[in-house]
Amino acid sequence: MLRFLRSSAMLRAQWVKSYATVAKEASIPDPQTSPEVLYTDIFINNVWHKSESGRTFDSINPTTEETIAQVQLAGGEDVDFAVKAARQAFKFGSPWRRMDASERGRLLYRLADLMERDQVYLASLETLDNGKPYNMSYNVDLPLAIKNLRYFAGWADKTQGKTIPMDGDFLTYTRHEPVGVCAQIIPWNFPILMMAWKLGPALATGNTIILKPAEQTTLTALYIAQLVKEVGFPEGVVNVLPGMGDTGALLANHQDVDKVAFTGSTEVGKSIQLASGNTNLKRVTLELGGKSPNIILADADMDYAVEMAHFGLFFNMGQCCCAGSRTFVEDKIYDEFVERSAERAGKRTVGNPFELNTEQGPQISQDQMIKILCLIESGKEEGAKLVAGGNRSDDMPGYFVQPTVFADVQDNMAIAREEIFGPVQQLIRFKQLDEVIVRANNSNYGLAAGIFTKDLDKANYLVNGLRAGTVWLNTYNVLAAQAPFGGYKMSGHGRENGEYALSNYTEVKSVIVKVPQKNS
Ligand code: ADP
Repeated sequence: MLRFLRSSAMLRAQWVKSYATVAKEASIPDPQTSPEVLYTDIFINNVWHKSESGRTFDSINPTTEETIAQVQLAGGEDVDFAVKAARQAFKFGSPWRRMDASERGRLLYRLADLMERDQVYLASLETLDNGKPYNMSYNVDLPLAIKNLRYFAGWADKTQGKTIPMDGDFLTYTRHEPVGVCAQIIPWNFPILMMAWKLGPALATGNTIILKPAEQTTLTALYIAQLVKEVGFPEGVVNVLPGMGDTGALLANHQDVDKVAFTGSTEVGKSIQLASGNTNLKRVTLELGGKSPNIILADADMDYAVEMAHFGLFFNMGQCCCAGSRTFVEDKIYDEFVERSAERAGKRTVGNPFELNTEQGPQISQDQMIKILCLIESGKEEGAKLVAGGNRSDDMPGYFVQPTVFADVQDNMAIAREEIFGPVQQLIRFKQLDEVIVRANNSNYGLAAGIFTKDLDKANYLVNGLRAGTVWLNTYNVLAAQAPFGGYKMSGHGRENGEYALSNYTEVKSVIVKVPQKNS
């Protein structure tokens, strides 16, 4: 870590530090560059199973393009088995339903402790399977995931209903009860963190879970399943089904699943909502795509704004649903901002994600890399000015894309409208505040937005005008267990994190009790 900080500019150190406790200046332990893959089967009822169909799929290392492991593929029979296990664990009177809420919290705390115990292993496995720099797996993803579980552990015995002054001679109160059997379908960009975001509130409130990790990154979810068993969660409370999109669709269409929580593409999010309507109207929460505006006013500190806009887009290889992928820069500083951004992208360290000073590893898969390269080509064809990168990094194996910056981007270009999910920055010119509010909101998405300015009045005006679930002011990409996160418009519905997340996992029951007014 020291080596990393020393080699970084002061400003980079600043954002690293702004990640709360994330990047402690303590030394970072060496990664296990070839962590042993211990679990590749299906986890149901706290037991490892082979797929009923005998089918498997490959987990690929995106840095080398080699197969790491073959993973069992959960099909229809496995899905049914998992749903039955989760239903049984949820049955009224089961150990899980009868467990004290404080005990549920204790189990969650213990899960966080075991993840901390195995932090080097888990961070190494994440880097192997996902390609993200170990420095980030270890210093960002794991600490945030661990804190998230601890945060929700604390909520377990603090989610409470209300007493309500209802008309008439009645005592009325509400109970917050678990929704039931929850399918949780997660993406590959933050595998451990997304698992924690899903498990924390659902377990704190007493639900049972069938988690389906993304097919590209199943390995850490399966290892954490074993930790769930070690902690002592009752059987059937957490089940993990590795599989492809079809496995997710089987869960979304299942008549005996009470809720689906999904993070991924807007297209699949729509199909999940349709599946709910076509089956049992299961509850659905969705955290989907984004094309987030990041607005830089002329009075912003130039060094800081360039660095943060760079970080806001390039963090995690651009594979963030909240990436600041439309950087609106005020006319007066636009040309200098372009020059500085191109220079910064050119200095980005791309390569082996196990090296501690690597900022950018490979994209997750060949498919994603090709999609990104196609969008880069469309940017060139539509007349945007390429000022950095623009190609695959072809001097090495792996799905590496050069840090790419486009200037003179127009709002109607594909690169300004479509989610690229890659290391491609769009710099867009604007002149007026009202103009930029309209243009920033002119998107089907509304996940996040950023603003950089020292002018309080302008900042507050923009905050109120922007239609986004999170607005970062003079910072970007700061996520924490306490702060709700989710989207307006086609970026989804429901909020993860914070107290708001609990309502995604609870039904409200009104209890109305007749209270005689006379003592007869
Ligand atoms: P991406 O395109 O970035 O891979 P997806 O939305 O396709 O994102 O995938 C996110 C998660 O959704 C993964 O776990 C994937 O397997 C799952 N998934 C893909 N298609 C479907 C589907 N039709 N129904 C349910 N889950 C799906």
